Amino acid sequence: MIVGFLLFGYFSDTFLSILNLRIFHTDVPKSLQDFYSSGKYRETRSYTRERIHLHYVSSAFQIVIILILILGGGFALIDDFAKSLWGSETGHSIAFLVILFVGFDVLSIPFQWYSTFSIEERYGFNNTSPSTFIVDKLKAYVISVVIVGGLFWLLSTIYFSNPAYFWLLAWAIATFFSLLTTMFYSNVIVPLFNKQTQLEAGELRDKIEQFAGITGFVLKNIFVINGSKRSTKTNAYFTGIGPQKRIVLYDTLIEQHSTDEIVAILAHEIGHYRKKHVLTGFILSNVLMLGVLYLFNIVLIMPDFALALGMQPTLHASLFVFAMLFSPISMIISIVSNMISRRHEFAADKFAADHGVGLALGEALKKLSVDNLSNLTPHRLYVFVNYSHPPVLERLKRLF
Ligand SMILES: [Zn+2]
Repeated sequence: MIVGFLLFGYFSDTFLSILNLRIFHTDVPKSLQDFYSSGKYRETRSYTRERIHLHYVSSAFQIVIILILILGGGFALIDDFAKSLWGSETGHSIAFLVILFVGFDVLSIPFQWYSTFSIEERYGFNNTSPSTFIVDKLKAYVISVVIVGGLFWLLSTIYFSNPAYFWLLAWAIATFFSLLTTMFYSNVIVPLFNKQTQLEAGELRDKIEQFAGITGFVLKNIFVINGSKRSTKTNAYFTGIGPQKRIVLYDTLIEQHSTDEIVAILAHEIGHYRKKHVLTGFILSNVLMLGVLYLFNIVLIMPDFALALGMQPTLHASLFVFAMLFSPISMIISIVSNMISRRHEFAADKFAADHGVGLALGEALKKLSVDNLSNLTPHRLYVFVNYSHPPVLERLKRLF
């Protein structure tokens, strides 16, 4: 059953990617013809193709490793090894989860390396130096070990003291933790990787100040981030809730767009703020989390799943089995959350258009998709499953 679920995940993903490649139009869509030379459009196609091919290979590799471990009893061996490292029940669980997490990530490093230093490099996007790549990895491991270890320690303490209401108590903790993450991610985690500064004085700041004033957004919450440290790709986002809300503009975005276009992009982000999209997303994901933990509770009381992998039915074994069985459900959850996210994007675009900057936003979106070599004509089904943002042509259609 576990093997079936894994293969289902892999083949459905591959099928969608094949659809996406087959539908790729050979001609530049009409509304974007002025923005693309035929060479640039060819580049977009081959960039999309290369990335999808790498994705096939890396996920096939991961599935093969998992199958070998399941069929060859490898997970039971890792479990025994984790127990030998740290004798206590909770320590054993944390060691097992950390070995798996770091192990799988280390195995994927060659693919990540190839993506950054070959594909992104050849298409002119890469600014990451090998040392930044390595330091980023080490930092991410330390952060994950601290967070995974800390959360698991909390969960197991609850589990052993109050198993009957475990899923409800775990939900309360998960909600509290996601509240902390939503509020403090930009202040605590982002500075470990990037610099964020207040927008400098000048024409751009004046124009933004004027616009922010009209819409009621506080200017001190607008930051510029040094995205150029890793990539030339451009981006902007709205994050946080309550007093911690902020709009973050990439330095690359400011470099490559006109003042009017940046104001229009900012208007879109203020749209997310005014329409309370982060808060809506936060509430929805926590309601979903309650359902997920309830399902986890069912796996937890059925020891057969862990025994099928040759492991003792411990809390971490159930968690691990659940993560694998969960892939079809997580696909449904991501489809629903992508659907909501795409609606939010349209709503934020409309907010910008209602404030008189729809035309500039359209120009900015066209430029963004050329600069980032975005796939202009993804397959509908692929968009339905994987896209958190609507394809640019659909956004332009609604804007004009
Ligand atoms: Zn948006």
